[in-house]
Amino acid sequence: MKTYENSPEFILRTVFGKSEFRPSQRLVIESLMNGNHTLTIMPTGMGKSLCFQIPALLMDGLTVVISPLIALMKDQVDNLKNLSIDAAYINSSISKKVREDRYLQIAKGCFSLLYVSPERFKKKDFLDVLSQRKISMLVVDEAHCASQWGNDFRPDYARIEEYRKILGDPVVAAFTATATEDVQQDIITKMGLTSKEVVLCNEGVCRDNLHLSVEQIIGELDKFEAIVEYLSKRNGSAVVYFSLISSIEKFSSFLAERGIHHLVYHGRMDQRRRRNIQNQFLKQSTNMMVATNAFGMGVDKPDIRTVVHAEIPDSVESYYQEIGRAGRDGKVSSCRLYYDEADLAIQLQFLEWRNPDQRFLMRALSLLRKSDVSLQSLTYEDIQEQLVFKNRSDHRLQTSISLLERFGYVEGSIEAGTLSLTDTGDENLFDAVRIKDKVRRDRLRLLGMLNYVKEEGCRKNYIHNYFASITQSCGFCDNCLSGF
Ligand code: ADP
Ligand code: MG
Repeated sequence: MKTYENSPEFILRTVFGKSEFRPSQRLVIESLMNGNHTLTIMPTGMGKSLCFQIPALLMDGLTVVISPLIALMKDQVDNLKNLSIDAAYINSSISKKVREDRYLQIAKGCFSLLYVSPERFKKKDFLDVLSQRKISMLVVDEAHCASQWGNDFRPDYARIEEYRKILGDPVVAAFTATATEDVQQDIITKMGLTSKEVVLCNEGVCRDNLHLSVEQIIGELDKFEAIVEYLSKRNGSAVVYFSLISSIEKFSSFLAERGIHHLVYHGRMDQRRRRNIQNQFLKQSTNMMVATNAFGMGVDKPDIRTVVHAEIPDSVESYYQEIGRAGRDGKVSSCRLYYDEADLAIQLQFLEWRNPDQRFLMRALSLLRKSDVSLQSLTYEDIQEQLVFKNRSDHRLQTSISLLERFGYVEGSIEAGTLSLTDTGDENLFDAVRIKDKVRRDRLRLLGMLNYVKEEGCRKNYIHNYFASITQSCGFCDNCLSGF
């Protein structure tokens, strides 16, 4: 029996400084504390982290958290340390010395939470250290990465079953914000379990305080004017998402000519500048952020009142992820999508670039293998020049390198100057059937987004249906309000 002093509520208040659980956080925590493997689907920003951090503090032993992004890992661990929680992370960004120190600490029994990237399980020294500890729980954050049907598949995530066994079969807690029914099933399979052995906490995906609407529009100028007018009627912070950096530049000049203050954020800016701009936005010095989808990961601003999409995103998964940044404080917030049919072409082009064919992938790999300069000193431009002849803004190379990394052929990254070859990799990468299937699924995803635009019934219902959860008209989207 737990005493009051170490109940989840007590930890919530005294350690995390929050007054009460949000709906379903309790359910997930209870399920885990009762020793059930649990798959949780909960909207972004609803507080998935607490659902495993609190049990981790209450359980006896070490909780291992698998997380896909190095930057997020550091942020989460820093936050925990600020709350005096004994947490650490291990990934490729830390030096050998720091890593060895952490290994020693783990062996000595330090830390209640350890964040790692899944690739870590390939390292023998890591496994040796873990074998000296009792592992209370294995957390798989962003669990959709384990499914090849998800939009962010990482082969190393697919080996959860293996990690479970290595860790001595602890409770598995998997979390995701986006998972269609077949992705949920696939995650469970990758855990090495059956549906009966896993408690499913499905919180639905779309929060009630988000009011959705779509406006169909033709031509860029009309669109820009419509956005400015729409935002002028709204208070609070807003994010305007574009798919293309060139569109952002045009919109930014349009705003500047009208004296409208705004910030700009996209993946082609260097990291320091991005962080700086993100901080300005968080500090409220400027209310409008104009960005590509590079903006938002790990941004935790509770009072974003409006999210505008100025160009159609690639899928309902992405759309929902991006609108999930609005209204995290639970207050009513608006999500408006401007749809111009011409923008569909951008996504079709992106879809091609996102799925380089077998030949392109092989060429990229052999180019790296044959490179006579050190891979650490290569830039994208160097390789691009040798691989792509016509369109220099073609993204296939970036995708190829990231795929080569995910499938284990290379380690590190070009941006960080740490790229290196491994001895081998997962041959599935070059499988023509896999690639074709991926393209087909990406097309279906885009179609799903287009159907959202064309939906005549409740838009929230549409999103709920898409992710196969409970449906009930929201009463607040443009269609509900017009009594469709
Ligand atoms: P997710 O992983 O679901 O996107 P996070 O775990 O990052 O969400 O949490 C989002 C924000 O919600 C964090 O700032 C967190 O502190 C806050 N939060 C989580 N649970 C609660 C709660 N019960 N009460 C108040 N704030 C909470
Ligand atoms: Mg999270």
